[in-house]
Amino acid sequence: MSNGLLVVISGPSGSGKGTICKRLIDEIENINVSVSATTRKPRVGEIEGKNYFFIDEDDFVKKINNDEFLEHALVYGNYYGTPKKIVLKQLEEGKDIILEIDIQGALKVKENYPKGVFIFILPPSLEELKNRIEGRGTDSKEVIHRRLKCAYDELNYAFEYDYVVLNDEVDSAVEKIKEIISAEKNKSARN
Ligand code: 5GP
Repeated sequence: MSNGLLVVISGPSGSGKGTICKRLIDEIENINVSVSATTRKPRVGEIEGKNYFFIDEDDFVKKINNDEFLEHALVYGNYYGTPKKIVLKQLEEGKDIILEIDIQGALKVKENYPKGVFIFILPPSLEELKNRIEGRGTDSKEVIHRRLKCAYDELNYAFEYDYVVLNDEVDSAVEKIKEIISAEKNKSARN
């Protein structure tokens, strides 16, 4: 059996990548999203083991030292990491996996697992990006400011990715990514 496809999706905060990933999971057969570990505190409604594995910093550092992450990064003051063993096992079993991770993490995965498909989600405009980050209503002013600054900087990394998808309209962005995944799967089946 051939390996599953690793699909890495990033984009600045407010690009809409979370919504897009949820849709992809619902609409594509045989694809899973990897659940990351983080030292961030859970937000209201978030579920342990579904949204994230919420762990403390000591545990996180232990896992780094035990080489348990495919990648890890410090994002807005909290650690986030992709569990290596689970992801590689599922890929070996032929399951396709989505990683919704930040840019630093994606660039590390590109080094460690270059067979992955790297997709960057672009917001329609800087104005819309600002509206989306401010409108989310879950974060403090300071966090919003930090996310905005970071989001503007992150746009510079778009062309490190294999594909850049404009999210001006969720349905069409989802369709484009489904086409990319299907084409990449056909390509890897031929190789
Ligand atoms: P949030 O705290 O809003 O859920 O996520 C903050 C940022 O961390 C987002 O850009 C998200 O994609 C990223 N992120 C989530 N999990 C991981 C991970 O395992 N590794 C890395 N590098 N970034 C992650």
